[in-house]
Amino acid sequence: MYAFSLIQEIHPALLKDAVMSPGGTDDDADFPYASAVTSLVALKQARYVREDQPEDGRAYVFYQHMRSVGQYEYFYKALQDDPGIFLTKGAVTEVKAEGDGLNVTVENTILGEDINVDVDLVVLGTGMVPTTRDEAVVNLAYRQGPAFRDLDLFGGYCDSNFICFPYETRRTGIYAAGGVRRCMTIEEAMEDATGAALKAIQSVVAAEEGHAVHPRTWDFDYPDFYFQRCTQCKRCTEECPFGALDDDEKGTPKPNPTRCRRCGTCMGACPERIIGFKDYNIDVVGSMIKAVEVPDDDEDKLRMICFVCENDAYPALENAARKGLSWSPLVRIIPVRCLGSVNVSWIKDAMSSGMDGALLLGCKFGDEYQCHFVKGSELANRRMDNVAESLQSLGMEAERVRLVEIAIDEYDKVPEIINSFVDDVLEMGPNPFKGW
Ligand code: SF4
Ligand code: SF4
Repeated sequence: MYAFSLIQEIHPALLKDAVMSPGGTDDDADFPYASAVTSLVALKQARYVREDQPEDGRAYVFYQHMRSVGQYEYFYKALQDDPGIFLTKGAVTEVKAEGDGLNVTVENTILGEDINVDVDLVVLGTGMVPTTRDEAVVNLAYRQGPAFRDLDLFGGYCDSNFICFPYETRRTGIYAAGGVRRCMTIEEAMEDATGAALKAIQSVVAAEEGHAVHPRTWDFDYPDFYFQRCTQCKRCTEECPFGALDDDEKGTPKPNPTRCRRCGTCMGACPERIIGFKDYNIDVVGSMIKAVEVPDDDEDKLRMICFVCENDAYPALENAARKGLSWSPLVRIIPVRCLGSVNVSWIKDAMSSGMDGALLLGCKFGDEYQCHFVKGSELANRRMDNVAESLQSLGMEAERVRLVEIAIDEYDKVPEIINSFVDDVLEMGPNPFKGW
């Protein structure tokens, strides 16, 4: 008898940990590097063993995840029906030499019992590791370095807004597809490459016509800098999510307009308030804030301002309204390009004009961010510390300003988010500087 064991989804670099670590039975560290490819190769090799030795050949396939998508599900089912092939989910905890062969121990199996089998050959499934994990691959002249951003964060895959714009990297005009974006089959890579090519065509057309790539595809404007007042603090160059701002040796920003996505994050970052667009700048939004009527003689009629990101949060509000949901009339809404574009001076202006609270609604941030401009809502959240300190130095509660993350499909949460903020502000009472 020829027995053959396939241990799937253990990347060679992780083998030592996966097999030897006492706590490693649930080790899934290789997950990002495995896909339907590793599952199908394991199944194919098991089939080869059976075709080669139909009488007494046996194949064991031990896996953490079996992915047989689409038509491949039939292949998987056919192998399940083969009495010479044994498939189970389980964690391989030991492979040791025994006699002329090898002995494999598998724990946490689907049947709940540990398995121990003698085999002649062990084959390790090999994950697909992107070349971007170890090499820059691209050699870009960006102040943040030649490679894609945050490779460590994405397991070595190049950065990509995986929810909204899967092919887009943070390097404008460079689109990622296939194995550098995530582990995938050839069919998936071909489809991915088609999507990326279409995006690249859009980008070329946008560049030729002089407007931004999406999400602001209609936008022909660029951020304008009033350099005479620049203090070279480098906040804009450091916070621009797309590396569109280099700087000279003194720290003065050097814009690269072709990389710019018009998110306004630089405008939100600038403490001198010297960055703006023709139709979206510190004064335009400042005037919108000033135009809001603030009742100053009615303790029950407070006023709160709500800065809402136009990408996810504003559509969520629109959907809520279309569904007939409503929220406190004490709130006034100002749409913004991204929470990253919200300059803290707007919040301070709102509070000093007598408003009683400010709510910021933007995309989810963190590992599974949904921000169309990658870092905007996260940066805004960091700036909240600065706002809280300013409010406290004025003797006001930091809780009068709140940032809430909301996804585009969470319209049903809108009334609760806004109303609970309003209730909290009502409980705190009017802004003590109202009317001054
Ligand atoms: S608008 Fe956005 S992409 Fe353009 S320079 Fe400013 S921060 Fe960078
Ligand atoms: S954030 Fe404003 S002040 Fe600071 S470097 Fe940029 S433009 Fe200059």
